[in-house]
Amino acid sequence: MVDRFDAGYQFPPIRATLELVVGVLRELFKGLRVTGRIMIGTITGSELVTTRYPQEMREKPQRFHGRHVLNRYPDGMEKCIGCELCAGACPAKCIYVRGQDNDPANPTSPGERFGFVYEINMLRCIFCGLCVEACPTEAITMTSLFEMSTTNREDAIYTRETLLMDPVGKVPHMFPEDELADLGELDTADGWLKATSPSGVAAYEGVEMWRGTPGPGNWDPEPTQDVRDSRTSEEDGDG
Ligand code: SF4
Ligand code: SF4
Repeated sequence: MVDRFDAGYQFPPIRATLELVVGVLRELFKGLRVTGRIMIGTITGSELVTTRYPQEMREKPQRFHGRHVLNRYPDGMEKCIGCELCAGACPAKCIYVRGQDNDPANPTSPGERFGFVYEINMLRCIFCGLCVEACPTEAITMTSLFEMSTTNREDAIYTRETLLMDPVGKVPHMFPEDELADLGELDTADGWLKATSPSGVAAYEGVEMWRGTPGPGNWDPEPTQDVRDSRTSEEDGDG
């Protein structure tokens, strides 16, 4: 080990040491400049990068994947035919469906069967939307609502009674008194249902494929590609 007080020890030159210290401090301040700017901007309110949720709610994108809803046809018939395809497609295995034969004299759905039992475990759901993609009748769709915290596991199991819209299109909420819940978001089905992607077939461009319901879905279909191409990113909400 070198004894620094040996007569032969060479201390680094003062100038080189100062340059090193100044260089380190310069890089440090350079790195903290962004942090400092955001911190001051946050304190003064001039550059907020976060939203003061729940006091301030951000507007959700039209295709936001929120809480599910089981739809009806405009005549009040249930769209679910109890086929269980949604349950099969669900990667989180959080859907449980059991179909039952319709009463021919008083059918619940236009199919042979209807979804007699329907449950979604929201604690497992990853809101991927694959159940919506798999459904052949657009019976299960997603809304914009995600304010649905619970304090126990049972309340996170959404049953048919909670998921199914009533004959006029109103969708029940588990906790309608919850002041964070915007019940209007339950009346709006997710935006991809109004998407008009032609899937490569020009004849389908701009054609709305969504079959109506008593309530949700009352907005314009997604514009055709040429209209979207002519928009600026600001008009598309990307700005
Ligand atoms: S959104 Fe995804 S995870 Fe949730 S129920 Fe549907 S398929 Fe399952
Ligand atoms: S929601 Fe759709 S996919 Fe699921 S059981 Fe009903 S009809 Fe079938």
